[in-house]
Amino acid sequence: MDHVALAQLLFPQVTQTPQALEEQYPPRALPSGAVVTRMAPSPTGFVHLGNLVQGIISERMAHQSGGVLFLRVEDTDAKREVPGAVEVLIEALAHYGITFDEGASLTGDRGAYGPYRQRQRAEIYHVYAKDLVSRGLAYPCFCTEEELAQMRQRQEAEKVNFGYYGQWALWRDRPLADIQAQLAQNRPWVLRFRSTGSSTRQFKFNDLVKGELTVTENDIDQVLLKSDGIPTYHFAHAVDDHLMRTTHVVRGDEWLPSLPFHIQLFQALGFRLPKYVHIGPLMKMDGNSKRKLSKRKDPELALTYYQAQGFPEKAVYTYIMTLLNSNFEDWQRANPGLSPRDFPFSWKKLNPAGALFDYAKLLDVSKNVISTMSAGEVYAQVQAYANAYDPEFGAALEKDPDYATAIFAIGRGGKKPRKDLATWQEAKPYMGFFYDQYMDWNAPFPAQFSPETIRTALSGFLSTYDPGDDATAWFGKVKALAESMGFTANMKLYKQDPGAWPGSVADISTFLRVAITGKTASPDLYTVMQLLGPERSRARVEAALSRLNG
Ligand code: GLU
Repeated sequence: MDHVALAQLLFPQVTQTPQALEEQYPPRALPSGAVVTRMAPSPTGFVHLGNLVQGIISERMAHQSGGVLFLRVEDTDAKREVPGAVEVLIEALAHYGITFDEGASLTGDRGAYGPYRQRQRAEIYHVYAKDLVSRGLAYPCFCTEEELAQMRQRQEAEKVNFGYYGQWALWRDRPLADIQAQLAQNRPWVLRFRSTGSSTRQFKFNDLVKGELTVTENDIDQVLLKSDGIPTYHFAHAVDDHLMRTTHVVRGDEWLPSLPFHIQLFQALGFRLPKYVHIGPLMKMDGNSKRKLSKRKDPELALTYYQAQGFPEKAVYTYIMTLLNSNFEDWQRANPGLSPRDFPFSWKKLNPAGALFDYAKLLDVSKNVISTMSAGEVYAQVQAYANAYDPEFGAALEKDPDYATAIFAIGRGGKKPRKDLATWQEAKPYMGFFYDQYMDWNAPFPAQFSPETIRTALSGFLSTYDPGDDATAWFGKVKALAESMGFTANMKLYKQDPGAWPGSVADISTFLRVAITGKTASPDLYTVMQLLGPERSRARVEAALSRLNG
């Protein structure tokens, strides 16, 4: 077989050579140890938490080492492509601080190693395809769908491995004349790799996260180019990662079964193999067993979920860091003033099996993150969230930013800041009562007390209420009121023997709290009343009294 003649026959339009491409995309001038890595999403429109995890790992690896992170769009499957998906992905990742040094971007693609969209790289793939054919390492296959289906049936009947290999590889060694005859009739063909591997041989491979793996050689003559000339993922990523001078490939471990083929392909193409970091899928507990997060069952897999729930960007980022590096939390405790981006992230500490996603833990992390923010920052983020998801509430906040900021300042700062909020969505239920339209004017009082008792407490409160009192004087009056009603002001004694009194000062506070905030739990009531002001505070207690009278 004259392989060079075959290559010319299949790819007459290709005049460039691999050598020319090597020169066009020279090795990058970076210090040794600099990681060049990429995200290579298929633009399907669904951005999931796994994309963010991969993004954070890649971004840290690249930027902590003084390397490069680029974005390549793997758009070879036009059927699955969703318009606008690349923009959605870029924006979603940018929200979490993952920005790319080169590649596809919102304002056009940039960088010296492009194009960065695979459909624009067809000519480049064909240069390598032609080269492989001319060296006898790839060949055209004219099998129809029916022929392949029949082959599969026969393999099933004979109980042998499925696939296009060995004697099943019908076009592997066909003479040039047969190929010419098919081409003359315009028969569609795919380009296949000529595998020299054997399914009975194994070899060892070192993944940076999974460690040493023993894998079986690939013996299948896999497809490199589909019948429309578009490459498969396998072929395209090999060519791209080589020419884009990728040093590390961070990707999901669903690609591990293809790895033996990828290694063959890099060898056949004469490319140096990048280092691989195969990351496990995100798992969750379902009852007593672990399973992968699923697009169908778990809304928390979608990245949009976190924005819609109102998780601050920093909380999600921080939580992912706790998942990725088990020493992160200790580091954070030791360095409370630093940002999670200052943490010396290490891919060596990644869990080979994949991280266990724990929503309760995320809420906890988020509460901590929010508790360390300034009131101004909380206000700004709640405002932005409300504007997007609850515009009416957004407008209410916006009317008086100082008021809203003062509300968020309650219990903030100091050694033990309050941890009321885990998400911005919780802001309205937490502090909506500061706005008359969101106050629950019919909130129930504790049912074990008679309306009479509650009335006595509320009117007793109003009779001594002096807006000029400081917190101590204010509370002194509440205690005196409790005692005047036969309730105890001594919580310690009360807890030891609750039956000895009709109630305690805490119950009196609850009556006031329900009247003033519409809730049984709220931040410090004295401060709440300071912010509401004497008129509104008094009016609320009066409204409760008239409701109790009614
Ligand atoms: N386009 C592939 C995917 O979305 C990329 C895998 C890779 O990063 O190499 O799964």
